[in-house]
Amino acid sequence: MNSIPLLDLAQQYQQLKHELDQAVLQVMVSGRYIGGESVLTFEREFAEYLGTNHCVSCNSGTDALFLALRALDIGPGDQVVTTPFTFIATVEMISAVGATPVFVDIDPETFNLDLEQLALLLAEAGPAQPKAILPVHLFGRPLDMTTLMGLAREYGIPVIEDCAQATGATWDGQRVGSFGTMGCFSFFPTKNLGAFGDGGAIATDDPQLAQRLRSLKEHGATRRYYHEEIGINSRLDALQAAILRVKLGYLESWNQQRRQVAARYQQLLAPLPDLYLPSDVPGHVWNQYSLRLGASHDRDRLRSRLQELGVGTMVYYPTPLHSQPVYRHLGYAEGDFPVTEAVCGQVLSLPMFPQLKPEQQKQILYHLKQFLLEP
Ligand SMILES: *Cc1c(COP(=O)(O)O)cnc(C)c1O
Repeated sequence: MNSIPLLDLAQQYQQLKHELDQAVLQVMVSGRYIGGESVLTFEREFAEYLGTNHCVSCNSGTDALFLALRALDIGPGDQVVTTPFTFIATVEMISAVGATPVFVDIDPETFNLDLEQLALLLAEAGPAQPKAILPVHLFGRPLDMTTLMGLAREYGIPVIEDCAQATGATWDGQRVGSFGTMGCFSFFPTKNLGAFGDGGAIATDDPQLAQRLRSLKEHGATRRYYHEEIGINSRLDALQAAILRVKLGYLESWNQQRRQVAARYQQLLAPLPDLYLPSDVPGHVWNQYSLRLGASHDRDRLRSRLQELGVGTMVYYPTPLHSQPVYRHLGYAEGDFPVTEAVCGQVLSLPMFPQLKPEQQKQILYHLKQFLLEP
């Protein structure tokens, strides 16, 4: 039996081996390993792709979030609204700048922020408005940015989009990351546009913010060896930039292939009992295919059975962030975000990558059927 991994990055490399090898060699031969042509060109090309005026590259998606929060002068005493159903980095960076995360529950259909609850929170906040809203386009599904930006404008609150899982996603024909004050991207290998190591970027239309971000990521320097504030060292390597330039050219077709993989799952899995399939929306880029299992299914048993059969699965994410030990001090209790809490117990991500074949998906269906339909 052939095993089916959750994702297959080596296969993607084989597909582009020649181009990637050339790009990496060129950087190695050039002798320019920090900054330089490949980084600047990638920033320009990525901004163009997103439709923003500026792109500032950095070392990771985590750093992108940190830098964006710092660029808005968010710090101790400030509140930032976000989701309890995301990767820790989103919330962790709010804490890293000294601010306090404020959670709003998610919509079980989209896994993204529940915008009605967000509207309620803002309406009730009175003069104690949050300093920023930090929504996440989770699993590649774009959040309804029309509604979100409407709320943000109404209350005059800046928006930092966490686009780590949604590179290339669009809402109403516009790229995510280009709606908010800033959009943060990750080029971690498993993301839709992945490097061969860490990488990240911040997109913005605001030239002053772009300049501030550049200073912050270079030790707070406004010119060489002249430091106006405390910053960090956060760089996208020239090698990674060269790799990303090659892969950016394939992103649209890969995202299209992801949509085809998702559509096949939707069709294949629809007849199975007590499964809640993820809902689709135009512009979705399917970083993950995450479904919810009904109460009649035992997730742990299913996962270990699939693992025995060579099918990779993952639970993104098993524990809500408000229930994490590190956030005990925020004083949230179980039951505060019932949708997130329920979803954490139900979600299961199936293999998802552009090159996943129909035969492999049928094999996954076969295994799932065996398990789910057994008495
Ligand atoms: C991956 C991820 C990040 C962090 O990106 P890194 O490049 O790994 O630092 C932040 N937010 C979300 C939602 C992510 O999935």
